[in-house]
Amino acid sequence: MAFTLPALPYAPDALEPAIDKMTMEIHHGRHHKAYVDNLNKALESAPDLAGKSIEDLVRNLSAVPEAIRNAVRNNGGGHLNHTMFWEIMGPGAGGAPSGDLAEAINSTFGGFDPFKAKIKESALGRFGSGWAWLVHGSDGKLSVVSTANQDSPLTDGHAPLLGVDVWEHAYYLKYQNKRADYVDAWWNVVNWSKVAEKFNAARGKK
Ligand code: MN
Repeated sequence: MAFTLPALPYAPDALEPAIDKMTMEIHHGRHHKAYVDNLNKALESAPDLAGKSIEDLVRNLSAVPEAIRNAVRNNGGGHLNHTMFWEIMGPGAGGAPSGDLAEAINSTFGGFDPFKAKIKESALGRFGSGWAWLVHGSDGKLSVVSTANQDSPLTDGHAPLLGVDVWEHAYYLKYQNKRADYVDAWWNVVNWSKVAEKFNAARGKK
């Protein structure tokens, strides 16, 4: 069964002013759609993989035939990363995490502000295109990592909880080369209850 582009969970202008409507429309309707289309195209030659979830494909790229492995890595990762990206943002969001997630962030990074600084450092330190992530490791610990291109932390055995897309397509229309300003504004649209859901799923709690 082919993968499909998920609908945006809110209107394309819902994240204004942090993320402008045109950026959202192009990012979702063209960039994400292209990842889905190219992933489906690559998988046409591998009917054995039909029925695997996108997480399974990306988690275990070595099970993907070499001829299409790079296409699945890039486009499968792109599909997975963007699906999560739309989910962990929302209108009327922002603020700070609460509960166990806040405690885990505070004890790991020394507070919410140091955590945000670490994400920013990771986002700005990524040369070219990629992502900065908060991940939950198989050791049960939180950490901040960066991946290049559309690589997913899942491939390295980490569960992504939050990710900021630092490809220029995510911010260039409004912020041009000012990636730091985009990252600063991005905190205003983070949906912490979704991030907490992912944290709970990663540590096996409902
Ligand atoms: Mn993107």
